[in-house]
Amino acid sequence: MVDADQTFVIVGGGLAGAKAAETLRAEGFTGRVILIGDERDHPYERPPLSKGYLLGKEDRDSVFVHEPGWYASSDVELHLGQTVVAIDRAAHTVRLGDGAVIRYDKLLLATGAEPRRLDVPGTDLAGVHHLRRLAHADRLRHVLAALGRDNGHLVIAGAGWIGLEVAAAAREYGAEVTVVEPEPSPLHAVLGPEIGQMFADLHAEHGVRFHFGARLTEITGQDGMVLAARTDDGEEHPAHDVLAAIGAAPRTALAESAGLALVDRSEGGGIAVDASLRTSDPDIYAAGDVAAVHHALFDTRLRVEHWANALNGGPAAARAMLGRDVTYDRVPYFFSDQYDLGLEYSGWAPPGSYDQVVIRGDAAKREFIAFWLREGQVLAGMNVNVWDVTESVQELIRRGARPDQEALSDPSRPLTSLLE
Ligand SMILES: Cc1cc2nc3c(=O)[nH]c(=O)nc-3n(C[C@H](O)[C@H](O)[C@H](O)COP(=O)(O)OP(=O)(O)OC[C@H]3O[C@@H](n4cnc5c(N)ncnc54)[C@H](O)[C@@H]3O)c2cc1C
Repeated sequence: MVDADQTFVIVGGGLAGAKAAETLRAEGFTGRVILIGDERDHPYERPPLSKGYLLGKEDRDSVFVHEPGWYASSDVELHLGQTVVAIDRAAHTVRLGDGAVIRYDKLLLATGAEPRRLDVPGTDLAGVHHLRRLAHADRLRHVLAALGRDNGHLVIAGAGWIGLEVAAAAREYGAEVTVVEPEPSPLHAVLGPEIGQMFADLHAEHGVRFHFGARLTEITGQDGMVLAARTDDGEEHPAHDVLAAIGAAPRTALAESAGLALVDRSEGGGIAVDASLRTSDPDIYAAGDVAAVHHALFDTRLRVEHWANALNGGPAAARAMLGRDVTYDRVPYFFSDQYDLGLEYSGWAPPGSYDQVVIRGDAAKREFIAFWLREGQVLAGMNVNVWDVTESVQELIRRGARPDQEALSDPSRPLTSLLE
């Protein structure tokens, strides 16, 4: 075959990278596939790290993308614990931290994201944590168990998805939890105030304390141990441990030093890619959390930091690397589990983009679908403890549907009937 002497290199051993390698083989690519990841673990999925795995309900083996033997049996050359430190675009090579140089014909950057750090005094104390990697989850698991046992206090900076999921897990362990959040409600930037309040109520019912409209300014400690977390309105919250859950930043340093086009941080950051996930260099692609793609449906550049985007984006990039005709225009999707609440969100409707929220079902019982609309057009939908509706919700969004609002809010009218 013509591709037998080609080498495709993938940088980043996360979900997007592993799925891209799988797709290259599934599509019949017979050349070399080299997957390089700076973590020592085989590629794994991160959602359980703030849910089942953190709670000790899912075992370690269940988080990996493939069985360890899959890489050798699929002829995927895996370099774990190795960092790619430079790309030489002219020579078509990447350089590893140990000095090794690997030639590529096509390159995929699937370098993901890293937790943003709190920029306040005290972040170097031993009780200040982040959550991105398996090792972080292992450590946090022990911390939460100890806090639960000793009636200890966890302060979480940030009421985003990870902050809230860890808050739920910490309460299940029996820890005291305070969440500090500058916005007036949880998940404000994603869901807006209307639905954000529901999450505040849910967590308050489970004993989580919120401090909205405030920022952490200092973590105080003694002998390396955390004692308290201070906020900019002068309050002090007792704390034995602090979790910084203030978002993630795309890992663009490698792309930047190689001179690839990036997206400004004010517009979400990331490596700029076209609809086929190709960067400004025709032989280099990007997928997953790090890639900012121009999304035809929303007519804007979107960088989606969610599982489904890595799951589908890695394979889409792999097909594009093989020369297939690819337009990556999936409706953004994510899921979350907190206590006994499960949800799926499809679409994109940050505050300012919508003018109406329509509820279908019983919000008080937390069994409903919320729709975000602009001038009657469905931009996003979130099903909460209601299942098997994602396909219809996404189809409404994809079609730019403007359904009759009475029908949209009436659970007795099948969603599929709104598509007719
Ligand atoms: C705790 C947690 C819970 C989550 N829960 C959910 C959820 O419930 N639902 C949902 O939809 N999404 C969830 N997400 C988001 C989801 O996990 C991410 O969107 C997904 O992991 C992105 O995959 P990726 O392959 O793009 O990047 P990553 O998973 O970040 O993988 C990138 C890999 O590349 C490595 N790397 C980076 N630079 C280099 C380099 N120069 N050389 C070598 N290796 C490098 C990184 O160390 C990393 O291993 C969660 C994320 C976290 C952290």
